[in-house]
Amino acid sequence: MTARVIDGKAFAAGLRERVAAAVAKLKAEHDLQPGLAVVLVGEDPASEIYVRSKAKQTVEAGMNSFEHKLPATTTQEELLAVVDQLNNDPKVHGILVQLPLPKQISEEAVINAIDPAKDVDGFHVINAGRLATGQSAMVPCTPFGCLLLIKDQLGDLSGKTAVVIGRSNIVGKPMAQLLLAESCTVTVAHSRTKDLPAVVRQADIVVAAVGRPLMVKGDWIKPGAVVVDVGINRIPAPEKGEGATRVVGDVDYAEVAEVAGAVTPVPGGVGPMTIACLLRNATVAACRQAGLPDPEGL
Ligand code: NAD
Repeated sequence: MTARVIDGKAFAAGLRERVAAAVAKLKAEHDLQPGLAVVLVGEDPASEIYVRSKAKQTVEAGMNSFEHKLPATTTQEELLAVVDQLNNDPKVHGILVQLPLPKQISEEAVINAIDPAKDVDGFHVINAGRLATGQSAMVPCTPFGCLLLIKDQLGDLSGKTAVVIGRSNIVGKPMAQLLLAESCTVTVAHSRTKDLPAVVRQADIVVAAVGRPLMVKGDWIKPGAVVVDVGINRIPAPEKGEGATRVVGDVDYAEVAEVAGAVTPVPGGVGPMTIACLLRNATVAACRQAGLPDPEGL
């Protein structure tokens, strides 16, 4: 048996097109141009790449992009002042502070200083609470992207058994809440889970968000299950030359593809969905702040 390959790249491109159409409509009908502000503190090379591609895709969707680059020596007070200024800027509908932050700054303090209505990452405690209690919320981009891919494969998820591996605030926990809201029976597994393969074998839906290369093996998977791989891990690739590396997920793709019904590749699966969902969240945030209904098709 060979699994369907879930093409996150194509799905994300479709979502970005729908966002661009919604943005064009908001401009034409309501003179509203959604704006997304991204704040980067320090010079982490991976973060710089993310921020650049976020800004590029924001502009491509027809939205306003505001970039704030601050030095690594920025104090918490200085960063909070920038957040405050963005909270009060009517042109800015979404605020994203790129993580990780330098040691002298509390991530929790900064995230919780963002106006929850503009918290397009969905990390604010108010949004986490709203999601957990079934109220309208800004939902974290990566798990929301995973949910879209899963629903595209399975349609109605009601009654399905789902296992989420990983319990982080940015992926595992919100992923579990989203699946619960779809009436799945959800298990959240983590580093202390006993006999993880046996737990995963129960699942119609597996989401791996661990950060351990190729951890989930073929014999962990119930035949026909949908497997979503959030992991991004860089490992040595001697076959590509000395010192070369390649990116792999948390799932042993070659093995799992023999058993699963559908599986996301890495790269080209969940990764492209995250920024597409960020643009979606910023557009939805702009509508909500203007008192308009959420755009159709997003
Ligand atoms: P994290 O380090 O905050 O959390 C990892 C979780 O895995 C923890 O809850 C831990 O309990 C669990 N875990 C660790 N070892 C385990 C084990 N042996 N068995 C079972 N569970 C174990 O990580 P995160 O921020 O949630 O990210 C997870 C992965 O997803 C990373 O590889 C990260 O790079 C990737 N990621 C990708 C995207 C994307 O856009 N595709 C976005 C965010 C994170």
